[in-house]
Amino acid sequence: MPSQPILRFAPSPNGRLHLGHARSALFTDHWARVLGGTFLLRIEDTDLGRCRPEFVEAIFENLHWLGLAWPEPVLRQSERFAVYSAAASQLQQLGLLYPCFCTRAEIASGAEGPDPDGAPIYPGTCRHLPSAEAAGRIARGEPIQMRLRMDHAMALAGPLTFPGAQPDPDQPPHAVPARPERWGDVVLQRKETPTSYHLSVVVDDAAQGVTHVTRGRDMEAATDIHVLLQHLLGLPTPIYTFHELILDADGRKLAKSKGSESLASLRAAGWSAAEVRHAAGFD
Ligand code: GLU
Repeated sequence: MPSQPILRFAPSPNGRLHLGHARSALFTDHWARVLGGTFLLRIEDTDLGRCRPEFVEAIFENLHWLGLAWPEPVLRQSERFAVYSAAASQLQQLGLLYPCFCTRAEIASGAEGPDPDGAPIYPGTCRHLPSAEAAGRIARGEPIQMRLRMDHAMALAGPLTFPGAQPDPDQPPHAVPARPERWGDVVLQRKETPTSYHLSVVVDDAAQGVTHVTRGRDMEAATDIHVLLQHLLGLPTPIYTFHELILDADGRKLAKSKGSESLASLRAAGWSAAEVRHAAGFD
């Protein structure tokens, strides 16, 4: 029997929401309505250095202002590090994680090519480090990241696909091939944060029974990693739909890091919620 559709908007409170977030949230809410499902809000605040309580409050405030509503309590990832560590242990037991001590500069100098986000692919320097040497470096307190052995993970999982859907309820999902190898040995845990975006998102989509993931095109390639992790952790794979991005005047995607105009500043400049909804593509 098909389960009740559950969709989520999952922002990271490391800055102010902009029009691109409004589109993502409204797109998700729209699809929840079309499918007769539930719209959830999740706060992805695992990056304790960059996430701030006032940004969380601003997310609630701005989404309410846009007309969105969601069930309480809202899941906050910062309260679930133990759950993510347990998932990482599962991968560790499969022999799929290894410690890496490389600095950014070392990785960039030996990189095997850019990943889909344009970052250097990890050259595998620490992949074959003797375990005694790794243990010694950990004991000395060196900064460490835990990486996924992509070749072994893929051999274990075999060829993978995920159900991809057009934003059209009358078109059935189709099988989209996943190619996680294009990301190399991704980081799944850091010393200061015992998880990563990829690990937490997969664990929580499953924990919350999310059936449909709606996200921007910029997240399409990362979905391949998520599908692989779902397979390795024995979690279900939701249906994925990607929406087009809102671009700035230079044709680049909006980003908090570039200081794209926030919803709060549009409000302060006199925009109504209806005008923001319209600018985000929803009336
Ligand atoms: N938290 C992520 C972000 O704000 C997106 C989560 C997702 O859609 O998987 O970019």
